[in-house]
Order: sequence, then C-alpha cells, then structure tokens
Amino acid sequence: MSVIESIHIDGAWRKAAAGGTREILDPADATTLAVVAEGDRDDTDAAVAAARRAFDAGEWPGTPTAERAALLRRVAGLLQRDREEIARTESRDTGKTLEEGRVDVDDVTAAFRYFADLVMHESGGRVVDAGSPDVHSVVVHEPVGVCAMITPWNYPLLQASWKVAPALAAGNTFVVKPSEVTPLSTLHLVKLLAEAGLPDGVANVVTGAGDPVGARLSEHPDVDLVSFTGGLVSGTKVAQAAAPTVKKVALELGGKNPNVVFADACATEEGFDHAVDQALNAAFIHSGQVCSAGARLIVEDSVRDRFVAELAARARKIRLGRGTEEGVECGPLVSAEQLAKTEAYVASALSEGAVLRCGGERPEPGPARPATGYFYSPTVLDNCHRGMRVIREETFGPLLTVETFRTEDEAVALANDTEYGLAGGVFSADTARARRVAARLRHGTVWINDFHPYLPQAEWGGFGKSGVGRELGPHGLAEYRETKHVYENLRPAPVRWFAG
Ligand code: NAD
Repeated sequence: MSVIESIHIDGAWRKAAAGGTREILDPADATTLAVVAEGDRDDTDAAVAAARRAFDAGEWPGTPTAERAALLRRVAGLLQRDREEIARTESRDTGKTLEEGRVDVDDVTAAFRYFADLVMHESGGRVVDAGSPDVHSVVVHEPVGVCAMITPWNYPLLQASWKVAPALAAGNTFVVKPSEVTPLSTLHLVKLLAEAGLPDGVANVVTGAGDPVGARLSEHPDVDLVSFTGGLVSGTKVAQAAAPTVKKVALELGGKNPNVVFADACATEEGFDHAVDQALNAAFIHSGQVCSAGARLIVEDSVRDRFVAELAARARKIRLGRGTEEGVECGPLVSAEQLAKTEAYVASALSEGAVLRCGGERPEPGPARPATGYFYSPTVLDNCHRGMRVIREETFGPLLTVETFRTEDEAVALANDTEYGLAGGVFSADTARARRVAARLRHGTVWINDFHPYLPQAEWGGFGKSGVGRELGPHGLAEYRETKHVYENLRPAPVRWFAG
C-alpha cells in the first residue's frame, strides 16, 4: 500500500521528513485502511514555521471579514458536495455508522456557516466612554496568531472543524494534529480549505503521535494558542508543556455524564418509552465513545426495576456490525486498546458487586461482524455505587451503569459527584423540578427531557476537569482572539506630571 502524503506544510502535501509511516486500521476487521506519514519534531517545527510566516507576513490576518466569511461558506458548500465520501471515510476510520458520519458532516457544515454569519454580524469594535471629549477609546478584537489544534479519534472531522472554523473566521493561521488513530477526514477537510481558496501556509497538518507532535506543538515558542480535545491525562500534559511559554490554552476533556430519570417522567407509557429510548441513545450511540455519553443512569428507585428491564431488553437488540453495512446501528470500538479497556472496566465492576443485566461480552461474529473486529455488546451494569471505578472514571465504551435515588437532593448530589462536569440529562414531567435540577447541575451542558443535541450557536465545554474554555457560540470565536484597547488622545498636550 502506498504511503499517503499526509503532512501539509505551506500548501504542499508531503511524507515525513525522516520517512516515518503509520498504518491506519479498519476497526471492523483490523485490516490496514491506509498508510500515512508519521511526523516528528522536525516536521512539526517546519509546519509551525509556515504558519508563523503566513501570520506575520501573509495576507490572511488582514483579509476583510466579508472575504473570510465567504471562504467559510464555500467550505460549507464543499463539505456538502463531498458529504457521502467524507461520511464513508469517517465511518471506516472510526467504526461509526455511515448515518452517524453523515450527521457529523451536516453538523460541521452548520458550524462553518454559523461562524461565517457570526463574524459578519459583529460590530467592528466597542467604543468606550473615557469621560472626556478629547479622548477616543475603542476595544477591538484581533486574531491570536498561530494556533495549534490537537484532536481525538472519536469525532475527528467535527472536533477539528469546531477549531478550524472559528480560528479562520478570526484571521488566524494554524497547525492541526489529528489523532494518530483516525487522521483521514482531517486531511479531506484541509484539502477543501485549499480548494475554497485559503492561501498557502494558513492551514497546516502534521500527522503523528501525541508525543512528539502534540507535545512539540504545546511547548513551541512560536505557537500562540493550543486548543486540545482529548483525555484528561493528555490534556494535563498539554497544559504543563504550554505553561513555560504562557500561551493561551483551551482544553476540551472527558466527562462522566449523569442521566437523571425521575419517576414522574415514566408516569405515562409515552413518557416511559421516551425516557428509555433516550437513555439508550445517551449511552450507546457510537458505542459509547462520546465525551458526553450518558454513561451513568441515575434513576428514581420506585421505577428502577421496570426501567432497567426495558433498557436491557432494547440494548440486547442493538444491531452491531461494520459501520458501512446497511441496517447496522452500532459499529465496533475504535481499537484493540479500547476493547481491552472496556473488558477491564466490566471485570472490575463485576468484582466490585455490579450486576450484569445485558452484554458483558464480545458478540458472536457474523457476516457484518468479522471475528477480527473490535466489537463489544452494549452492556448494562446494575447495582452500581460511587465507590466503583466504573462510576468514577470515564469508560468510553458501550457501558451503562445504574444507580438509584429517593429524593431530589440525592439525585443532584449523585449527578454532581464526579471530578468531571461536561454534560448531563434530566428527565421529568414536572417542568419546575426539571429546571430546578438543571440549575443545580455542575455541568457545561444540561439537557432536559433529551440527550446529546448541541447547537453551533450554544457554547460547548466543561466544568471541573472536563476542561477550560468553550467551543461553539460567541465564546468559541472569542477563544481565537486577543482583545485590545486603543486609547487615542485627540488633543495632545503636555501633562507636566514631572515638573522638569
Ligand atoms: P487522547 O488524550 O489519548 O488523545 C487526544 C489527542 O492528544 C490525540 O491527537 C493524541 O495524539 C494527542 N496527545 C496524546 N498525548 C499527547 C501529549 N503528551 N501532548 C500533546 N498531545 C497529545 O484522547 P483520545 O483517546 O484520542 O480521545 C478520547 C478522549 O477525548 C476522551 O477522554 C473524550 O472524552 C475526549 N473528548 C472530549 C470532547 C469534548 O468536547 N470535551 C470531545 C471528544 C472527545
């Protein structure tokens, strides 16, 4: 298999300078999908130098806002033109279903359009009343400079786009490092940026491992901002590496997300059906490999038995297989490592007293499910409690744990009993109660009677160890800007502070 020239520097696609390569595996059967360049520190330095030149001497930072917005809109159009191809690439690379891949392309298209609209509808600057007619004082926003973007394997196109779109809208240049596990859709995105007319050197890519590529980007003195999405362990390393150069740091990290179900949500058949359906979506979409997965079901004791029985019955029916196969509802896990991690969490939960309601094993192989693929059956673990590892740590697999409560206060305490704080759900037929609980949850996103939707207009990010900063929404654009106050003396005259 020939090596894809996956490193993009100053408008040119190339192999790694030192000749390194990496095989990208299809998680549905562990065969080689592609071979890409494995960049190192030197490739990273070359990419940063290109981004630096494009920022310091290039035309992009000074390009009129309307032209930048028009480019973003062209990218949105190209994403839609290539929708099927990108969805297929994402499905084969990550294991997610084709339909999930299509949803990702549509969401990303909406994000590019949103940031194009946002910059176009802003006022240029904020005039500040300095208290004197002889002073003109204005606060303006400028691009940060060279941005490093480090992304994870679960939503490669989406996570890259949530950074690329606002960074370009604000006039920055960048180097993106996709996950070494799933780099392919990011390469497609960067090709579309060039096709849309982005000048050479503005968008650069280095494929390769977290260390050295991500580590070098984080510490690099010529990088002004590092925006990282990934796990807590790597995110902490990024923050430490970035500290000596005092660059801006944005971290989108993991979550251990509660889904609180009150008995009143299940009082009618329709309500019960909806709450069970959403609990299933919350936990098992993309085989639970979602930062905001509702992996902790916290259900009111009086409805627990019926709720868990129905949930397990539906989970058993989820059709597992290769994401590109017709009729498949859930793909494999992304890697052998992720599969082993999932098995270890189940073993640890069972040893700590959890009760298995369904799953807990690899499924039987089948025509759409090769034996070599990283498949794991959707699993419901009942009788869980806060002391267990499976409750405290982000499992990032198709595992749903069940805890119960009797009072509203107890539900809130359980839902907030995590070092993370990314997202959570509340299901209740009592609007006042649902809003009351939502207000008390220490999580960056709270869904009431729903789970998972997000909007490009609404900020996304975490409390606690789920991160620092926000993506999407006006705040997601602000991350890629510096704020400057320009104070102009309209009637210059000596002030004679010093007598001489
Ligand atoms: P990861 O932390 O292993 O890797 C993420 C990225 O960091 C990869 O590109 C990796 O190569 C790079 N990296 C690893 N070590 C590094 C280092 N020392 N310095 C710099 N970069 C380094 O995460 P993952 O396994 O790819 O993704 C899963 C994690 O991502 C989960 O914890 C999930 O919750 C999180 N995530 C969060 C969000 C969010 O919006 N908050 C979204 C998606 C995924």
